[in-house]
Amino acid sequence: MKDARRIAVIGSGPAGLMATDGLASAGHAVTLFEKRKGLSWKLYIAGGSGLNVSNSLPLDLFAKHYTGPAAHWQDCLKAFGPQAWLQFIEEKLGIGTFLGTSQRYFVETMHAALLVRNWKRRLEGLGVTITLNTPITDFRRAAAGWELWREEQSQGTFDALVFALGGGSYEPAESLAWPAMFTSKGLVFKPFEPSNTGFEVAWPAAFLQEAEGQPIKNIRLISARGERKGDLVITQYGLEGTPIYFAGMSGLVHLDLKPDLTEEQIVQRLQKTRENLSPMRRAQKFLQLSPGSKALLFHKAPAAAIRDVPGLAHVIKNFPLELERPRPLSESISASGGLAWENFDENLMLKSLPGVYCAGEMLDWDAPTGGFLIQACVAQGHWISDHLSFG
Ligand SMILES: Cc1cc2nc3c(=O)[nH]c(=O)nc-3n(C[C@H](O)[C@H](O)[C@H](O)COP(=O)(O)OP(=O)(O)OC[C@H]3O[C@@H](n4cnc5c(N)ncnc54)[C@H](O)[C@@H]3O)c2cc1C
Repeated sequence: MKDARRIAVIGSGPAGLMATDGLASAGHAVTLFEKRKGLSWKLYIAGGSGLNVSNSLPLDLFAKHYTGPAAHWQDCLKAFGPQAWLQFIEEKLGIGTFLGTSQRYFVETMHAALLVRNWKRRLEGLGVTITLNTPITDFRRAAAGWELWREEQSQGTFDALVFALGGGSYEPAESLAWPAMFTSKGLVFKPFEPSNTGFEVAWPAAFLQEAEGQPIKNIRLISARGERKGDLVITQYGLEGTPIYFAGMSGLVHLDLKPDLTEEQIVQRLQKTRENLSPMRRAQKFLQLSPGSKALLFHKAPAAAIRDVPGLAHVIKNFPLELERPRPLSESISASGGLAWENFDENLMLKSLPGVYCAGEMLDWDAPTGGFLIQACVAQGHWISDHLSFG
């Protein structure tokens, strides 16, 4: 290809892999740098509970799930949305996908190992040089293009750089060194804050003994941010699960432990037997509550409020819970914060550093769980590979 250039991609998460793929497919000589000894460590972590790669919501609704400029998400997802990504996984990486519950798409293998392995092979086939164990610590202008550095060792000069260094979540704070590379060059960076993270709840010891690790299934959570259905898991420190990630801030929330029934229907069900049973025994017998829901009612509901059937039905529909504080960044699924949008032009190039691009979670955007995070990363990687020019 007559316009082939030397390009470095730094970071081998989904954003970096997709940028590398697009640029190598266009005939450029791409070197992919990764500080760890293998590619895509966070995809392996994400695959631990089933690799949820995208979501089946229509594009308009899909794009509304992101913070950051709405026009960027519309354009970026229009260019490389869920269908294009799923097709890429199936046709280019040879892995089946399926639509699971809650509109989420998963890879058939559920974990990330095969996806990463097949992608690595494909990139090698496209002539990409993969350089592992190489933390990049600086980049400087060169006579032509940009020179990459690992401490005082030059890693070569490139016509353009694409950084895809990831967000602040799940990393030990001390290993999150990259922001200084950018702030030292006058770029605006918003500190990372935990997002999509568990919350701490003050559980009584007796409750934990019975309920730690138990699911609270099929609930509706009502918070200041709105409502979300799903499952929760009781942990030693509090709660994990999509509805809690959605709630996203400390304070009082309410759980509807039986969202498919109205309060009146619950009362009718609990009153239908003539047996002389306490309201709680009736709930156990006639409501098929999950173990975690039962434990909550037994241990955390105020005794006076559940003395009769109407009182218990009301608590089941409006269970109050105080979320004390979020779990730290190092345990979060994602983070808000990152390089501010004002640094970038519409191609995701740094306006003050022509020829330097960034993609993925290192930018200041966030989204809920449900496949939105990985989809955004690959869409931005693809966007850069389509819009890259040379500064
Ligand atoms: C527990 C958990 C579960 C998740 N589940 C899902 C899910 O099911 N679906 C979903 O959509 N999302 C999920 N996510 C989020 C998803 O994994 C991330 O959104 C995604 O991996 C971010 O991609 P990225 O390319 O921006 O960065 P990353 O995947 O974080 O990749 C960045 C890469 O850059 C490397 N790097 C960093 N600094 C340097 C440097 N200086 N030099 C060289 N290399 C460097 C890192 O080692 C890393 O490999 C989950 C996250 C977690 C923690």
